[in-house]
Amino acid sequence: MCWADLTHTFVDLGMSPPCESYLSADQLDQGETFYPLHVRVCSQCLLVQLPAYIPAEDIFTDYAYFSSYSDSWVRHAEKFIDLAAARLGLDDESFIVEVASNDGYLLQHSVARGIRSLGIEPAANVAEAAVARGVPTEVMFLGEETGSKVAERHGRADLVVANNVFAHVPDIVDFSKGLRALVADTGYVSIEIPHLLRLIDGNEYDTIYHEHFSYLSLLTTQRVLAAAGLTVVDVEELPTHGGSLRTWSMPTESAVPASAAVEAVLAEEAAAGLHTVAGHYGFAGAVAKVRNDLLEFLIACARDGKKVVGYGAPGKGNTLLNHCGIRSDLMEFSVDRNPHKHGKFLPGTHIPIHPVEALAEARPDYVLVMPWNLRKEISAQLEYVREWGGKLVVALPELEIF
Ligand SMILES: [Zn+2]
Repeated sequence: MCWADLTHTFVDLGMSPPCESYLSADQLDQGETFYPLHVRVCSQCLLVQLPAYIPAEDIFTDYAYFSSYSDSWVRHAEKFIDLAAARLGLDDESFIVEVASNDGYLLQHSVARGIRSLGIEPAANVAEAAVARGVPTEVMFLGEETGSKVAERHGRADLVVANNVFAHVPDIVDFSKGLRALVADTGYVSIEIPHLLRLIDGNEYDTIYHEHFSYLSLLTTQRVLAAAGLTVVDVEELPTHGGSLRTWSMPTESAVPASAAVEAVLAEEAAAGLHTVAGHYGFAGAVAKVRNDLLEFLIACARDGKKVVGYGAPGKGNTLLNHCGIRSDLMEFSVDRNPHKHGKFLPGTHIPIHPVEALAEARPDYVLVMPWNLRKEISAQLEYVREWGGKLVVALPELEIF
């Protein structure tokens, strides 16, 4: 954000391959590229950040993630449009722009309400799906220059939405200037970001991966937006992605006074130490404890001849497994509901991914549940593991066997 030299470590997770690069059997004998997962905190602006070791263009231009595959995410989007329309009084005279609009999962709901809508999405294959759904979409990365061009062509928006993209942008100041260029002088910018405070509270260190460049607090979000002429006027705390913030901002010259919620979240962050560099130092120790506890458990299982398999093959699981050095000697295989992953292998650790049915055949003593955010849902689905005396395990926020 401020270009100061980064001399302070937040946490160093060693080297890891890109978390979504699943391998086929014939790739197992080839080399794999590992990149550092060394997260720094800036002593000047306090932004917690992972340098762009892999260029964003390599990750996001042919992206395989379609938001509409997740039912709960589409419902979250619909609720957001209802709320925003009510809050800002949006109608058929209004104009909404969404940045990183993916396959139109969100804007389809504003289109349905008759609100003029425009998506901006860098992945051409994903943008095509949005257009097919009736959501006009421009294929580009947002920055000050592209934002100004879009505003010239389409006019400026009453609402600019940027949900779960802010952290994925290498140059967030230029991106924020793009947001400012897109929004009308009296309009609003709404941004959702995973909250650094919740990441630290929950030891959610597996949400650190190469596509995720910034780990934001409300304080650092305010600072980035201020550098682009935007002022945060309200904030909501959401349960999504392990604990997120939704900020509402306005162009600084026309901003209304900030709500009490802004002060309250800032006070909570300050109390947790997030407004000083030193306050960030404890996280590395908490992460080391998670790794040590998990490894001790897995090694004890290996010694006692207990069988452990994994559930889920999410990107976050790969950060955890690579950081802990867990391979198929400690966790025989993992299962996943996504058929595209079956027969493939996890990057770095080469643990095979099987269909969920493999669980009942193998009758493991323990199932390590990697998507801890879906813990309730998954433990209900895996009730049958208890029939043969099997137990579930989560590593975060601390090792728990249940
Ligand atoms: Zn800085």
